[in-house]
Amino acid sequence: MIVAGACPLDCPDTCSWIVTVENGTATALRGDRRHPYTRGALCAKVKGFLDYTRSPDRLLYPQRRVGTKGEGRFERISWDEALGEIAERWKAIIARDGAQAIWPYQGTGSMGILQGVAGCGQRLWNVLGTSRHVMTICTIAGGVGTGYTLGHPQVGMDPETFSASKLILLWGTNTLTTNHHLWKYIEAARRDGAYLVVIDPIRTRTAERADEHVALIPGTDAALALGLLNVVVSLGQEDREFIDAHTTGWEPFRERILEYPPERVADITGVARERIVALGERLATTRPTGIRLAMGMQRHGGGGMAARAITCIPGVTGDWRYPGGGAVYDTRGFFRGDWKTLCRDDLRPPGVRKLSMTRLGEGLLEVTDPPVRSLLVYSSNPLVTVPDQNKVRRGLARDDLFTIVIDHFRTDTADYADLLLPATMQTEHADLHYAYGHLYVAWNEPAVPPPGECRSNSEIFRRLARALGVTEPCVYDSDDDMARQVLASGDPALDGITLERLRRDGWARLNVPTPFVPFADGFRTKSGKLEFYSSRMAESGLDPVPAYTPPYEAAQRDTDLARRYPLALIAPASHYFLNAMFVNVPELAQRQGGPTIELHPADAQSRGLRDGDPARVYNDRGEFRARVIVSDRVTRGVAAGIKGFWPKLVAGAANANATVAERDSDMGGGAVFHDNRVEVTRLSHDG
Ligand code: SF4
Repeated sequence: MIVAGACPLDCPDTCSWIVTVENGTATALRGDRRHPYTRGALCAKVKGFLDYTRSPDRLLYPQRRVGTKGEGRFERISWDEALGEIAERWKAIIARDGAQAIWPYQGTGSMGILQGVAGCGQRLWNVLGTSRHVMTICTIAGGVGTGYTLGHPQVGMDPETFSASKLILLWGTNTLTTNHHLWKYIEAARRDGAYLVVIDPIRTRTAERADEHVALIPGTDAALALGLLNVVVSLGQEDREFIDAHTTGWEPFRERILEYPPERVADITGVARERIVALGERLATTRPTGIRLAMGMQRHGGGGMAARAITCIPGVTGDWRYPGGGAVYDTRGFFRGDWKTLCRDDLRPPGVRKLSMTRLGEGLLEVTDPPVRSLLVYSSNPLVTVPDQNKVRRGLARDDLFTIVIDHFRTDTADYADLLLPATMQTEHADLHYAYGHLYVAWNEPAVPPPGECRSNSEIFRRLARALGVTEPCVYDSDDDMARQVLASGDPALDGITLERLRRDGWARLNVPTPFVPFADGFRTKSGKLEFYSSRMAESGLDPVPAYTPPYEAAQRDTDLARRYPLALIAPASHYFLNAMFVNVPELAQRQGGPTIELHPADAQSRGLRDGDPARVYNDRGEFRARVIVSDRVTRGVAAGIKGFWPKLVAGAANANATVAERDSDMGGGAVFHDNRVEVTRLSHDG
């Protein structure tokens, strides 16, 4: 038997896959070759997914903590005991402090609509009136910035049209590692004469395959965008017809652009003036130009403004009017499912507070009225993934905090749980998926029964509702019911895309034209135009015109800090891990190797560091250990680590997040992982 499904992970590609099942066992998993975008190619991380589902250390039964918090000692209990205990403790918490003392804490371990970040559990949390969890970990600053420009945070050019681009800018994205299915469209365009530029502080594997690599100082992307537009404008190559017909606020934006001549931008970005002029000239004269910007470049104090500035570029050049022109950050906004019915926000009591995902330490240690008394973590491993790791650990160690963790493995976070509940993996449950990097919807049919006593998140929440005695009927809807409700929004892009059709075919492209040029006739803003000037921003107290907002810890903004901590640390994704997932898979961990810190030869030499040295990477917030790589893949003043290592699996019991500030970006409360100054010294020993 073969069963169609889809990869649920935090990746723009959302691959469709096929599972072969023999005698009730999944014996093979391969990409679905029929899928037009992912075409059968899974990535290095997911090829061994079936082995991952059968890992010997997988959680198979509910467990109760018997050791101290953090020690990781548990004993097996039944589901009835586990759910009974949660219900009893939560009822007492609600009676004493109200439901806001409960924080359902979700991550991006699944991007699914039924089991993951798109809506899982929301109905129940709304009925109970728990604190609201705000997903600030990933896309939000850039999404808000993009939204001010285009009218929606999750829309942009159709990635499939990159094959028609003549100039492609991969801006802050290591495409071959984190979005590799886009590469074939880029290669098709290059075969047709397109020129590929990668803009990234690191010479990644993607940058190595480009025609040109522009290495800029982290967080200076908005300045580069304005500098490139300065060249376009000084050549008189702005598209006046498009600007007049489809944009607002050109005059103030033009004045702003003129404030960023190439020499000033060279000072800010560290990119030579001649390189800025040459790329600006190329941009001025090449139609269509397509830009793929990704999440890494917006994780700093000016990240929202950076994404806004970049999405304005095609408004000046007029590229939004062509297939292969424009920019794309996120594509989820083209899927207009019935979110209201899925999440049932109408059931939420008024005035319920919000808690930021990436301020977990603050939420557990400083929030009062009421304090957080219970944390329920699902699809997330925050002790690994969120800022200020030491503070998060102190919060999780609180004796009076009742913590429940639903997961596949005993992660660092799980070690602090009072109750540990075993979750299903993707081959064992149903889910509905849309994508942030293409325009296809997918259905994931369960291929095999769950092992042990694992349960899907949606099933756990139905059972929890029953244990709590919730009477609102919608919290008991089945997975199929909820999928049908979401698909029945009435939006024309979903017309004819039913659960039955998805079950039959596995996936479907949204009903949009091919090629899809989403803004040729107007934008999703109130004005219907691309907004160089945003009144909404002015009303929010933000600069209404795109500008360069330096990172908090940029040398220009905090010179004293920059003197004490001269290196700007960024910690991008490993080729073998997905956020904090797969770090515990021996084969992938071995291929990755341990934590590393990559330094420019001049920076290494001035610190007496040599290739392979054990090192301590630190600032006032914390430290972690890593092995030095001396390489000109990074520019002077930049240190490059890797995100995702589990503290308990590495020397020093910390990863890069021990040094990251619990601080918000300029828009949306996004985290500032790449706004982080550190120093690096040699460790006298490896321990
Ligand atoms: S992580 Fe991304 S590329 Fe890898 S299988 Fe999943 S969707 Fe595909």
